[in-house]
Amino acid sequence: MTALRLPSVDRLLRSPACTPLQQRYGRDALLKTLRDLLDELREPARHGQLAAAELSDAVLAGRAGERLAAWHASKVRRVFNLTGTVLHTNLGRALLPEEAIEAICLAARYPLNLEFDLASGKRGDRDDLITGLICELTGAEAVTVVNNNAAAVLLALNSLGARKQGIISRGELIEIGGAFRIPDIMARAGVKLVEVGTTNRTHARDYEAAINSRSGLLMRVHTSNYSVQGFTTRVPTFELAAIAHVHGLPLLEDLGSGTLVDLTRWGLPKEPTVQEALADGADLVTFSGDKLLGGPQAGLILGRQELIGKIKKNPLKRALRVDKLTLAALEAVLNLYRDPERLAERLTTLRLLSRPQLDIQVQAERLLLAVAAQLGAGWQVTAEPALGMIGSGAQPVARLPSAALCLRPQQPKRLRGRALRALEERLRSLPIPVLGRLDDDALWLDLRQLDDEPAFLAQLPHLSVEAP
Ligand SMILES: *Cc1c(COP(=O)(O)O)cnc(C)c1O
Repeated sequence: MTALRLPSVDRLLRSPACTPLQQRYGRDALLKTLRDLLDELREPARHGQLAAAELSDAVLAGRAGERLAAWHASKVRRVFNLTGTVLHTNLGRALLPEEAIEAICLAARYPLNLEFDLASGKRGDRDDLITGLICELTGAEAVTVVNNNAAAVLLALNSLGARKQGIISRGELIEIGGAFRIPDIMARAGVKLVEVGTTNRTHARDYEAAINSRSGLLMRVHTSNYSVQGFTTRVPTFELAAIAHVHGLPLLEDLGSGTLVDLTRWGLPKEPTVQEALADGADLVTFSGDKLLGGPQAGLILGRQELIGKIKKNPLKRALRVDKLTLAALEAVLNLYRDPERLAERLTTLRLLSRPQLDIQVQAERLLLAVAAQLGAGWQVTAEPALGMIGSGAQPVARLPSAALCLRPQQPKRLRGRALRALEERLRSLPIPVLGRLDDDALWLDLRQLDDEPAFLAQLPHLSVEAP
């Protein structure tokens, strides 16, 4: 091949092949991309390493188009969560119901009465938008909402116990994902940690013995991501509340997931409810909006009016407050709880959590052939029972009976690991990435959360699998 001259960037920019790109991405971005492309081609062109066709307007515009599309592609990507963990923190936890999505769009599109009381025409408080609803549902006196439950715990601790002692059982000094550790949060809140009891057993007398004039509060934390079994004792909440109140101290309970309904009604493991904690005498309870509640990321603090009043006056509250989109979604989600009969149909998270195993098994059998055909002879594909989890620290040891497509490489054992990792990567590279779980020499696609079957099937043709 002979040396070739590159086209001029100005002419290329004005060429009909580039017009649609300029309209889509703008002149500056297109110009820069074309310059970069031509710079890279200069040497190969001079040394005769290119065919003339590779420098045609159409080919260069095509390559520029690919680069611009990749550069413009959103970093926020939809994925299929087939890991078996429903409330997956790394995959965005709760999926919102349609009502909440509509409320978010409305709040995003129009001005709203975020901090404006339409009845009086005066300035309002953003918490007021949901206070009535939450108090009606839970029996709490008052409520305030912040960015997430970690913020709720920090703010509650700081408001109630700054420069005082916070008394907590050794068995509840948890660390949850993302470096949230109770001792560290207490320190940052300015509360002096006083641990009582032992890892497995803490008695009423342990709390009693620790209380003195510098005590600020008693704290209870839901041990959400592990379980202590065997020779264990914990003081029931009502008794702990009684101890606190005799000494004029508040009891703060971090419920973690927290739920407003008895989940056993839908065949799910029992999780302490917000109403129970309040009825047992906890003065403040905190929990997440995007765990079992099934709403947006938020931290809810509920409880006694006077304590919530203190929290609202804390300058940290302003720093940790929620935005209008969150409040709009939260109100819509809470509204669904007014009709518990239909909650499992309407609240996406609960619908997914309560899907019957048989339903999922039938779905696995329905999809089996399509997936097997795409993977070819190198893989054995079966529909199998599987065990999933709620996730996000709700019931860490409980398993949700589910069903999965089980993909097993049909190769000598020593080659299987590599085949599985390669398949896992190809699934991750799909236009809508499919995320499963590696276990027992197989890749499992737990179908509990597969709602959108057409979109899943549309991924399969992209799953080019090289011969094993
Ligand atoms: C999940 C959890 C938190 C943190 O909640 P985020 O909403 O993720 O900030 C705090 N405490 C407990 C017990 C939890 O389970």
